[in-house]
Amino acid sequence: MELQQLVDRIAAEVTPGGEVADYIPALARIDPHAFGLAVATLDGEVFGAGDHLTPFSIQSISKAFMLALALHSDDDVWARVGREPSGSPFNSLVQLESEQGIPRNPFINAGALVVTDHLGLGAADRLLAFLRAESGNASVGVDPEVAKSELDHSDRNRALAHFMASYGNMRNSVDVVLHEYVRQCSIAMSCADLARATLFLARHGVRNDGTRLLTVSGAKRVNAVMLTCGTYDAAGQFAYRVGLPGKSGVGGGIIAVVPGKCAICVWSPALDARGNSVAGLDALDRFTTLTGWSVF
Ligand code: GLN
Repeated sequence: MELQQLVDRIAAEVTPGGEVADYIPALARIDPHAFGLAVATLDGEVFGAGDHLTPFSIQSISKAFMLALALHSDDDVWARVGREPSGSPFNSLVQLESEQGIPRNPFINAGALVVTDHLGLGAADRLLAFLRAESGNASVGVDPEVAKSELDHSDRNRALAHFMASYGNMRNSVDVVLHEYVRQCSIAMSCADLARATLFLARHGVRNDGTRLLTVSGAKRVNAVMLTCGTYDAAGQFAYRVGLPGKSGVGGGIIAVVPGKCAICVWSPALDARGNSVAGLDALDRFTTLTGWSVF
């Protein structure tokens, strides 16, 4: 089946279910039934269906790109964050005490805060520049309303950052880290933009302009952490149903990578209890089942 027919068929068949995230009030206003799907092939061609050109809040999808940016220069960040699945919700505090302020992995909020701190002041602007270049869309930007709403409701993330600071695992002030973190999460992009921006992970580290962001093993490692930790306490279920490295966000987006073939982004805002898009998971499940493409 041609990719365009495939994405059209999936968009016609999925049924959104679940609830939109409301702990960030600006996200609660989004239409829960929106659905978009885009597949970008290695040459940069994009096949899209539904609301694939509508920008949405990328939220924790930003964490995959931030990890890649942190690993671009060296592996030092691994001294500050682990790479084991947590089995806990994305905003959990529970393991931080027993693990001496070293978060389990870079994709739970605690770990992402460490990665952002590692990149330091200007981290969100670096991410924006990268995402604009890779998507080819210079208008990609931070949604100021979502950023403010998230900053106004950031007690939990602030607590995580302070707790890690008490163990000496924060270099910058908590205010600086929170500022960068809410900006990175509040970037708005469409499925088409994100699918293109994810292609470097399908190309074993090579960006759309032919330069390298990551070594072959660096890209393998980001993909591996996405597979094992990218959907939090649902990573086992995601590997079982989808069989690809993936990263979700509470805005309802999920990116997924078929190494050597394509990058996918799906968006539908209604979430399951673990903060993953219900229709997004369904669509990716159908995609890998219909194509037979997976890392297994
Ligand atoms: N910005 C959100 C938060 O920090 C990201 C969470 C997510 O997308 N899972 O709570």
